[in-house]
Amino acid sequence: MRHVVMAGAGIAGLTAALSLARHGTKISVFDRAPVLHEAGAGLQLPPNATRVMADLGLLERLRETAVRPDRLRIRRGRDGATIVDLPFGAAAEARYGAPLLVIHRADLQAALLEAVRVHPSITLETGQPVTSFAVDGATVIANLSSEGQNRSIASDGLIGADGLRSSIRSWLAADRGDDRTYAGRIAWRTLVPAADAPAFARASATNLWLGSDAHLVHYPVRGGTLINVVAIVADRWEGSEAAPNLWTVRGDPARLKKPFAAWSREARDLIEAAPDWRIWPLFERPPLARWSTGPITLVGDAAHPALPFLAQGAAGAIEDGWALGLAAARHPSDTPATFAAYERLRHAKADRVQRESRRQGSVYHFGAVAGMARDLAMRSMGQRRMLDRYDWLYGKPAAGA
Ligand SMILES: Cc1cc2nc3c(=O)[nH]c(=O)nc-3n(C[C@H](O)[C@H](O)[C@H](O)COP(=O)(O)OP(=O)(O)OC[C@H]3O[C@@H](n4cnc5c(N)ncnc54)[C@H](O)[C@@H]3O)c2cc1C
Repeated sequence: MRHVVMAGAGIAGLTAALSLARHGTKISVFDRAPVLHEAGAGLQLPPNATRVMADLGLLERLRETAVRPDRLRIRRGRDGATIVDLPFGAAAEARYGAPLLVIHRADLQAALLEAVRVHPSITLETGQPVTSFAVDGATVIANLSSEGQNRSIASDGLIGADGLRSSIRSWLAADRGDDRTYAGRIAWRTLVPAADAPAFARASATNLWLGSDAHLVHYPVRGGTLINVVAIVADRWEGSEAAPNLWTVRGDPARLKKPFAAWSREARDLIEAAPDWRIWPLFERPPLARWSTGPITLVGDAAHPALPFLAQGAAGAIEDGWALGLAAARHPSDTPATFAAYERLRHAKADRVQRESRRQGSVYHFGAVAGMARDLAMRSMGQRRMLDRYDWLYGKPAAGA
């Protein structure tokens, strides 16, 4: 049986492990974190992700805690006027054959972990960073180090699922060095108990508010008991880029109030309802021409980190898992061929997501004049054309590569 080592047990690593194991590959997953904390806040799982979850038999499990928002509502920050109100629940599910869900990251991670832990072909060890690797013919040696203990694992392939700050990527593309750059924006994230949130925020909707140099997104998660709120503002980042876990850095709510001071009362009420904010400075890395070199490849944020403006971070990672499974079924004993086929299935779309996410971020933060033109264009588009715009993203992936 083919054996592959997975460096990283985030959403990408766990999904890829399940998908490969279904197609007859034995997987050893290692994560550097001593414990896989139930960290994070809300994530969007659009149809391109939930389709894969259905295929892996996990969709019903996810539905236990996820919310399927009935609508997508886009509003103007300064006065709360509705720019677009799009039915998105049943309409999107009928159109794409899979739902658009919103979920707490911990609930998604828990469902994936449960499935990984009972799978006979997958092992998972935490507190085990992959520190280097070597290729010897058709064999990859992954070196691990934990508490001064070193060990080496020989396998037929190594997958870097080690996130935005991937070391596997840095070793594969050594000529690029550390090419992360700060994207000039900070995302402020919080979860508000639904009982403490203003009534409008409890509706079953994904809400996007637009303003100059700032936007706000909110939706209910965990069966509607929590409201996930993300406020993204253009700002300087003065913190350390090397902080071990940027997901847990607290932000001062007084600083967040300033960019929203001239926004509508409703938006300010929601921001004020949340006392505990975490800040997430946004970093990007330019696209890589190739993700795979022989028996080594990259998935998820390690391969194609995208800014969060199309809400495709987790979805792209999940689509990678699907593509790896398909490629493994086609090339059951040739790992370099599996990885090359996976890359052909995914590279073009992931590149486009990176590009369009960045463009979307600029459009969301337009100043007053350009913002008026944007709002007018969105209004005149109508529901059908608005939905058409998502087809390339949410539609069925091309399986012919
Ligand atoms: C703690 C955390 C909280 C998050 N919260 C949110 C959120 O609230 N909303 C949102 O939209 N996105 C969130 N994200 C990001 C989102 O999960 C990812 O952008 C997306 O799911 C792609 O995931 P990934 O698996 O490629 O990378 P990641 O989720 O970053 O996972 C990478 C994994 O690799 C491990 N790792 C790193 N280096 C090594 C190594 N050398 N050896 C072994 N393991 C290694 C890390 O410990 C981590 O578990 C979060 C990510 C993390 C890690």
